[in-house]
Amino acid sequence: MRLWNTSILGSDTQLNQHSYYEASVQRPPDAPRLQGTVQADVVVVGGGFAGLSAAIELAQHGRSVVVLEAERVCAGASGRNGGQAIVGIASGQGVPRSQLGREDASRIWGMSLEAIRLIDERIAAFDIDCERTRGYLYVADAPHKARQLQVELETSRRDHGLQTDFVQGADVARYIRSGRYCAAAYESVSGHLHPLKYGLGLARAARALGVRIYEHSPVTGLQRGATVVARTAQGAVQADFAVLAGNCTLAEHGPAVAPEIRARIMPVGTYIIATDPLPESLCERLIPSGAAVCDNNFVLDYFRFSADRRMLFGGRVSYTTRTPRQLGETMRQRMAAIFPELASAPVAYLWGGFVDISMNRAPDFGRVAPNVFYLQGFSGHGVALTGLAGRLVAEAVRGQSDRLDVFARLRHRRFPGGSRFRTPALALAMAWERLRDTW
Ligand SMILES: Cc1cc2nc3c(=O)[nH]c(=O)nc-3n(C[C@H](O)[C@H](O)[C@H](O)COP(=O)(O)OP(=O)(O)OC[C@H]3O[C@@H](n4cnc5c(N)ncnc54)[C@H](O)[C@@H]3O)c2cc1C
Repeated sequence: MRLWNTSILGSDTQLNQHSYYEASVQRPPDAPRLQGTVQADVVVVGGGFAGLSAAIELAQHGRSVVVLEAERVCAGASGRNGGQAIVGIASGQGVPRSQLGREDASRIWGMSLEAIRLIDERIAAFDIDCERTRGYLYVADAPHKARQLQVELETSRRDHGLQTDFVQGADVARYIRSGRYCAAAYESVSGHLHPLKYGLGLARAARALGVRIYEHSPVTGLQRGATVVARTAQGAVQADFAVLAGNCTLAEHGPAVAPEIRARIMPVGTYIIATDPLPESLCERLIPSGAAVCDNNFVLDYFRFSADRRMLFGGRVSYTTRTPRQLGETMRQRMAAIFPELASAPVAYLWGGFVDISMNRAPDFGRVAPNVFYLQGFSGHGVALTGLAGRLVAEAVRGQSDRLDVFARLRHRRFPGGSRFRTPALALAMAWERLRDTW
């Protein structure tokens, strides 16, 4: 085994076989592979939330669209995530405020609210049954983290009107029955859903709008110019525009597609376990509101109950892209430390995926050529924002790029260390942050 695994392809194949989400859906038969040359107004690389959202918006505005997906629709992060649809962006508002000023930072916040609304609009418009639930709980496990949470939420209230109920001490039990947390804050803008059901619903909607989706068709090269040509092993798409929505594996499938954006994100492994279904009374006692929960540690725990009353508990990161040892047992222990009542709950599924983190955790949207757009850097906060990102790219293709450009003005640094040393450098930096979580 290599000490530092620089490739992420295949490293989590085994984990995905145990995904609760995959086990709880009936996927349609595989879409065809691309064969031969086809024409489109827009070629979208990647069939996750971002790519599908762009395809839907473009098709709704009369554009012919081809989506090329390397594996299966939502085989990446979109079909594996915690399902937490959260307002805001992963970096918090500090990055846009300091880089762009208050006005544009507020526009970004407003667009993140639109991202949440867009989920509900699409669920209604396309009749997507995906267990959508409102309610979100931020929790803190130490007094200084409680203060930090309070300050952040107070700023969100003052600047953006986000209403939260912040509680401390014994009142925390109103929202979560765990001795772990000294503070909690509830809001009802954010919430959760079954991500793979949602993603497959988007794919169905895209097809109904005329979008041609090809699976098992990794794009290995992209010829730029007035006409872009996306090449796969057995075919090509000629189009006026390209949208790159390949997330962490874009550079793995097609190193030459857009090498200039590769070092702006890093793949970070994160993992989820799902218990067997639990008694209704226990679920209601542990999280009475049914909210999705997330702590404010740097290496965070995120969890919620599924519609069939399983605890879906996420956390534990890998900055080396290798699956951590004794992963299932470590995850179970973390869950039991928060909810002792779940210590003996059988764990039925364990899976993981890669999050595309940017250096400052702000999303990274822009162009690598006038007619080639990219969307990446969701930094673990993409369930809602990907939908909005697809809409923004579609606007830009139609000649209205002012909203995309607010994001594109955010400055991003490359991860240092070159392709060989980038991963170990990040692992060292993150080990430091993980240590700080325990202070
Ligand atoms: C375990 C886990 C938990 C998470 N939890 C949350 C959460 O609770 N809340 C939240 O907001 N976010 C969460 N996230 C992040 C969120 O899932 C992502 O931000 C979001 O799904 C990204 O969507 P995407 O479309 O950009 O990428 P993906 O869903 O990864 O889609 C990219 C697609 O592109 C394809 N592809 C790549 N390269 C090529 C190529 N060359 N040719 C063709 N196709 C290609 C891939 O196969 C993939 O299907 C989590 C992520 C993970 C992994």
